[in-house]
Amino acid sequence: MHNLNIIRNKTERSRLLACLMVFAITLLSACIEIQSSSHGTSKNNTADTHKQETGQAKNVILFIGDGMGVSTITAARIFDGQSKGMEGEENSLAFDNFENVALIKTYNTNAQVPDSAGTATAIMSGYKTNIGTINVRPDQKYEGCGSIPAIKTLTDRSHLAGKSVGIVTTTRITHATPAAMFAHADNRNWESDNEVPKEAKEAGCKSIAQQMVESEAEIIMGGGTSKFSENQLSTLKANYTYAESKDDMKNFKDGKLRALFSKSHMSFEADRDPAKQPSLAEMTETAIRNLKSNQEGYVLMVEAGRIDHAHHGTNAFRALTDAQALNEAVKVAIDMASEETLIMVTADHSHVFTMAGYPVRGNPILGLVKSIDQTTGLPSNNYEKALDGKPYTTLGYHNGPNLRATNDESLTDEIVHDRNYQQQTAVPMGYETHGGEDVALFGHGPGSENIRGVMEQNKISDIIDLALGLN
Ligand SMILES: [Zn+2]
Repeated sequence: MHNLNIIRNKTERSRLLACLMVFAITLLSACIEIQSSSHGTSKNNTADTHKQETGQAKNVILFIGDGMGVSTITAARIFDGQSKGMEGEENSLAFDNFENVALIKTYNTNAQVPDSAGTATAIMSGYKTNIGTINVRPDQKYEGCGSIPAIKTLTDRSHLAGKSVGIVTTTRITHATPAAMFAHADNRNWESDNEVPKEAKEAGCKSIAQQMVESEAEIIMGGGTSKFSENQLSTLKANYTYAESKDDMKNFKDGKLRALFSKSHMSFEADRDPAKQPSLAEMTETAIRNLKSNQEGYVLMVEAGRIDHAHHGTNAFRALTDAQALNEAVKVAIDMASEETLIMVTADHSHVFTMAGYPVRGNPILGLVKSIDQTTGLPSNNYEKALDGKPYTTLGYHNGPNLRATNDESLTDEIVHDRNYQQQTAVPMGYETHGGEDVALFGHGPGSENIRGVMEQNKISDIIDLALGLN
């Protein structure tokens, strides 16, 4: 910082000299320009110092919409508004009102378009790493296995500061995003003991399930009993309050909770049986209520993990209902968390999901495109047609399983509003893929002032550490 000031002062002096050598009007305007630019620099520096002094938070709640790119947020906002009887576009999601926003660069160290393992490592642990790896640096092998030193997880860093930790997801708890809170794995597929290769086991590597059993986080909730052995499940039941239904969760009063609500992932919100599985908002409420009792504060990660899965199947309806469920969980956090809480909402990566054509204002977001009639200036009564003479939906995917083909039957309202409808794609693939463009990060509360501009994804971890004073 000191050297930077010398350079800046030198630069200012030489710029001033240059000013003196120019004739009157040019001189005046040039000097004004230089003065204003040097003021800009020092003002920014003052603001930076100020931030570090004031942005102290006691708690952090980090929401991750898995695969919730900006197009998903826009479509979910409209979907949510239309479900409340509005035209939709004017609706606001809870985090639309957060005062600080940044764009996040999501690439993995070896991949232009990333996966959730590498991105979750960046978000929670502060290291960009290779695609498919969890809390293992790109130049390391078997990090965290046996006696090999490990990147400190957000759980470990939070515990060192005396804070409680909660991990909540709708996927299997051993899936990449939640696993990055507590586990190390060279391969995200090492979910169960059976999936860890012999050589890795010999090096002391453990399955993600085993690492979850050994995790000291206070609250862990999600799905995925199928990845645990009988022994591992017995250990969980013996050592913690164990919940496998919504009622079990509601009966939990205090202590440490382990909840596994399903064999694999929990249900999509659209298919959830509310008598059996809690919603993401209900899990968030339980977690905050319990974590709040620690006077030193807490860190809670909440993942809406199945937005991603619905997108992979090009089913926009389930992606948007799960994004809507995330929004409900954010509302709970805003209501329950104290002012000393930094709340962040982001996505780990995007999807090749687009919102296109020229639909009229208020056109059903899952529907076929009707545009403004250019002759009357009023909404057209007819659907727009593509060059194949057939209507098309506003929402679509660049790639995936439901290729638009010329001999297909024409789309109708009935077809596209079916909850199982898979939006059309341009490139035929078995599964739709992630997208590589930046995602958004929204922040509210102390420390959120550091969220601005275009940021590398691993800086999110720095924002958490700085806000909480973690090492
Ligand atoms: Zn995915």
